[in-house]
Parts: sequence; C-alpha cells; structure tokens
Amino acid sequence: MLHRKAISLSTSRATQFIDITGEVEKALRESGIKEGIATVYTRHTTTAVFVNEGESGLLRDYKRLLSLVPEGAGYEHDRIDRNAHAHLRAVLLGGSVAIPVVNGGLDLGTWQRVFFAELDGPRQRRVVVQVIGE
Ligand code: ZN
Repeated sequence: MLHRKAISLSTSRATQFIDITGEVEKALRESGIKEGIATVYTRHTTTAVFVNEGESGLLRDYKRLLSLVPEGAGYEHDRIDRNAHAHLRAVLLGGSVAIPVVNGGLDLGTWQRVFFAELDGPRQRRVVVQVIGE
C-alpha cells in the first residue's frame, strides 16, 4: 500500500525551523499503514528536512551551523538569483528523511523530531509525506 500527502507551510522568516512531526504522524494515521517506511521530502531547492532534537538552544545552534555558509560570499549563482547561500545550506542539511514505521507509528527516538527548514523565506512551501507499507 502507498499513501501520499502534501503538507502546506507558510513560513514567516528568512530562516526558520518548523517541527512537522505532528503533521507527518497525521499523514501516517490517515494512511492506515502499520509497518513500512515514511519518506518526508521537500520539493524546493532552498528548504531542507532533517531529524533532530527540538531543544530551544539547539534551534539557535542550527542557525549557527548555517553560518558556515555565509550569505553573499561571492557565489556563482548570486549573479542570477541572489540566494546561493540558501541553496548551499539546503544541500548541507539534506532534502529528505526516511523513517521506519513500526506498529502504526514513526519509529523515532525519545528526542527525535522531524524538522522542515526554511532557508529563503518567507514563502509558501509544500512538503511531501509518502508512506509505503502494509
Ligand atoms: Zn536560486
């Protein structure tokens, strides 16, 4: 069985981390799938999806990580579309995660959450959740 759902997000800042774990769990419940795999995938080139902890200090530290790719550092892409830093930060964080589905739930560790990262907002965004299993 396969179930696919798009989650719409309105981001409000240039850089923003949104905990979408609840939305992914909702899509999983709607699928009725009990055992399998859930893929969470962003269809944008300046956003990311990752799994990690949602502690408030760590959310600020994620921004610090992104400073490894500073804005306007002479990138080629900035000649046509001044957001090369956002594309490169998206590559750094990754565009999808695959999470095992066990007994109808996401098999996440105690502190693990699913995050959507806006890296060139604010914008309207869509994240796809695709669940495969039985
Ligand atoms: Zn661009």
